[in-house]
Amino acid sequence: MQDHRAPDFPELTLPLFASLKKIFKTETGRVFLYPASGTGAWEAAISNTLNRGDRVLMSRFGQFSHLWVDMAERLGLDVICVDVEWGTGVPVEAYRHHLEDDPTIKAVFATHNETATGVTSDIAAVRQAMDAAGSDAMLYVDGVSSIGSIEFKQDEWGVDLAVSGSQKGLMAPPGLAVLGVSQKALAAAESATMERCYFDFADMIASNDVGYFPYTPPIPLLHGLRASVDMLFVEGLSNVFERHFRLAEGVRRGVHALGLSLCATAPYWYSDTVSAVRVPDGVDGAEVCRIGYHRYRTSFGGGLNKVAGKVFRIGHLGHLNEVSCLAALASAEMALADAGAGIELGAGVAAAQAYYRQALTDRQDLADLDLLASAAPR
Ligand SMILES: *Cc1c(COP(=O)(O)O)cnc(C)c1O
Repeated sequence: MQDHRAPDFPELTLPLFASLKKIFKTETGRVFLYPASGTGAWEAAISNTLNRGDRVLMSRFGQFSHLWVDMAERLGLDVICVDVEWGTGVPVEAYRHHLEDDPTIKAVFATHNETATGVTSDIAAVRQAMDAAGSDAMLYVDGVSSIGSIEFKQDEWGVDLAVSGSQKGLMAPPGLAVLGVSQKALAAAESATMERCYFDFADMIASNDVGYFPYTPPIPLLHGLRASVDMLFVEGLSNVFERHFRLAEGVRRGVHALGLSLCATAPYWYSDTVSAVRVPDGVDGAEVCRIGYHRYRTSFGGGLNKVAGKVFRIGHLGHLNEVSCLAALASAEMALADAGAGIELGAGVAAAQAYYRQALTDRQDLADLDLLASAAPR
């Protein structure tokens, strides 16, 4: 194992911090890496910047937004939680009203991409609502299943704490919590009184500034993240986002061609990184997942909490291409049919194929396509 106190260790870490800032799209903020998962980044964001009893505004519309609310309550925050229908996302208008009515709100939380329901929310609109209400609260955004796969602009959207993890859009193995932190949040950390030690920003900053960590970092994961971030840059972030839209759109067309609908209630909410598919009445979503896993060796996501048994999920983020999505649709069709759904085998795959052929041949610039093909996942 490499020596994490060696004189050349910063040659790995300092450029990695710089690259991650490009992915979060922050020039003024800084990025922290913790040996943890996305949940650890949630906790680092809260514990470094808030005090027990602080009033915060959150919303709940899926298992991940639910768990962040639960954490905030357990850490002693005074949570105003807006519950909205699962299948929709951050209620921007309701946020604006709460912020206008209550100037004591210190923090606003938003789950950018709710992985449990396949819903993406508009973070720029949340920032606009905060500004319109004259709020000077900080903005906390869960980007675990969005950053690196769909557009994320930390500085432009005024995100103070951007939370991610290594294993989703960043395409590395699990085990790293990744956090983007604004100057405003760094300043708040200097006086915030919530207890923290392992996640303390100040300890991290003192070591990170010279390319080290306050304790042993997961060195293999840092190398893995270096490699996966390089892959994102070779393909180009805008091409990566375009690919995710295209893959997702094919899956959505496939789902609709089967006569099924998504958990996301309207196209406005559709996520380009995961589709939660509603199963027909009388069909158990958990059974679709079990059959998919055991019989067709495909891991679908199950329905969590309120949507347990009602949906199954097709993840389409990270290192995958059109053919991976066609395979997922083919497997889903078989598992659905076996679980008793009256669907026409092949209808979903055919609709996705038609869309992918069209979308890929519509790209006029073949030289560009060639370059893309060399970078995009095979
Ligand atoms: C996966 C996920 C998390 C939790 O991350 P872990 O790495 O499992 O701790 C949090 N939020 C969202 C939106 C996620 O998709």
